Amino acid sequence: MSSADAALDDGPRDFIREVIRDDLREGRHTEIVTRFPPEPNGYLHIGHAKSICLNFGVAAAFGGRCNLRFDDTNPVKEEQEFIDAIQADVRWLGFDWGDHLHFASDYFEQLYDWAEHLIQNGKAYVDDLSPDEMRAHRGTLTAPGRDSPYRTRTVEENLDLFRRMRAGEFPDGTRVLRAKIDMAAGNINLRDPVLYRILHAAHPRTGDAWCVYPTYDFAHGQSDAIEGVTHSLCTLEFEDHRPLYDWLIENLPVPSRPRQYEFARLNLTHTVLSKRRLIQLVSEGHVSGWDDPRMPTIAGLRRRGVPPAAIRDFAERIGVTKSDSVVEMGFLDACVRELLNKTALRRMAVLRPLKVVIENYPEDQSEALDAVNNPENPAAGSRTVAFGRELYIERDDFMEDPPKKFFRLAPGREVRLRYAFFITCTEVIKDAAGAVVELRCTYDPATRGGDAPDGRKVKGTLHWVSAAHAVPAEVRLYDHLFARPDPGAEGDVLDDLNPDSLQVLTGCLAEPALTEAQVGTPVQFERQGYFTLDPDASPDRLVFNRTVALRDTWAKVQRKG
Ligand code: ATP
Ligand code: MG
Repeated sequence: MSSADAALDDGPRDFIREVIRDDLREGRHTEIVTRFPPEPNGYLHIGHAKSICLNFGVAAAFGGRCNLRFDDTNPVKEEQEFIDAIQADVRWLGFDWGDHLHFASDYFEQLYDWAEHLIQNGKAYVDDLSPDEMRAHRGTLTAPGRDSPYRTRTVEENLDLFRRMRAGEFPDGTRVLRAKIDMAAGNINLRDPVLYRILHAAHPRTGDAWCVYPTYDFAHGQSDAIEGVTHSLCTLEFEDHRPLYDWLIENLPVPSRPRQYEFARLNLTHTVLSKRRLIQLVSEGHVSGWDDPRMPTIAGLRRRGVPPAAIRDFAERIGVTKSDSVVEMGFLDACVRELLNKTALRRMAVLRPLKVVIENYPEDQSEALDAVNNPENPAAGSRTVAFGRELYIERDDFMEDPPKKFFRLAPGREVRLRYAFFITCTEVIKDAAGAVVELRCTYDPATRGGDAPDGRKVKGTLHWVSAAHAVPAEVRLYDHLFARPDPGAEGDVLDDLNPDSLQVLTGCLAEPALTEAQVGTPVQFERQGYFTLDPDASPDRLVFNRTVALRDTWAKVQRKG
């Protein structure tokens, strides 16, 4: 049984895969070809990841192939930086296009020939109307459009003008080539859409070779046809363009006939996925760059520590449908947590340190205690952590006057220090302003690495670091980039930016094993969350990004009031 046969009855059962199963079963296709077609005018975001996972996932499931094709038809907005970043991001997500890296610009000569073919068949004409006049002629959703006075030009005149457009004889915006379809069509996309415009602009790949460029609508479907794409998967806003794409395919001698299927784009709460908005966030400095860890870009998610497998899992679990919906950002977080819980090594770090002195522990002594690396994965083994007389715990893990349900340290209370001993708080030391600056405690040597021999229980377990061994670190905590789930729903999007989306903590203290942390390999800071080394870190400066917090049971109790 071939892999394509095997896939007929396996895997997700969304409507697109159903179509493909049918096409294979009924012999309409023997090989499935899809493509991911970005415009290189920005970085990829998590919405694109949905499309990437779908296109590459479908191709892999049915033993076909997926091309990476840049629809680079607008040189004014496109840059090599974006071409490079998009390839790096798709590869990082775990997908491989093999030899099938393509560019619509590779087809410019062919597309131009096809435009002449349309002219020759009386299916396209050069129009001299200004953009404003064209708009006025287009009509509205309820009123038909009007023919341009240039619509009746002869084939010879159109060919001559189009060739002179290509030769650079006319300034930008003075003429366009339009398909001759129907100015009264109910679908506005069929009212003689523009196929070529004059743009005296250098292209990242073709340089100054061209001063006429095909529109996206003209290039897209024909590029699919050239590549033998069988299933052209795109988002719902292109549904209305399908009749135009079909018209072009019917009227051109293209080598294959792709079929387009539309699915709902991904919308996520607390962020924006419009490229225009993302460009604005970067260019106006609301974030540090495309890879700011608060950005919904692939580069931002990567820098925050989100593993590619979690993004793939997220894409699979949200599924592919034809109805628009908004996915909770918390669902992405849950996918990340679920994966990292299985894979991330456990480490201890104290973000807001409070000093603890163990009064009955000998000065100048220390000992190495065994600490498991990952309780979910015994193969990850263990490490040792140093214990000594002076420690740091988390400031939040102590309350002088604890309410009910606060099970952590308090005066007179005994808790467990993870992997170490039970300690009891015997004294609280404050500064002149009354702030707690240090705790005095005693420890029970009989509880080393385990329970009390007399069977007494403690309710709290705290993480900690040894003062003599800990290394300093900077930790960056991220919250939603936008304060409201639906940014811009009631006014300017920028007014909804969350002023507290970034919190930088300096003076954090990490166990020494964290000096071995690697960019791109998140670890769990016990009881706090998953963190990953930031590329800003250097051998003598640890900088961590919080990838995602653990769910905090005490914070939940507090919220319930
Ligand atoms: P624009 O066209 O405004 O520049 P875009 O988001 O459509 O932005 P493209 O580079 O054209 O960017 O997108 C490449 C592919 O990714 C397209 O096929 C598009 O349908 C798909 N895509 C874009 N945004 C989403 C999303 N939020 N969810 C799913 N697919 C998306
Ligand atoms: Mg697009």
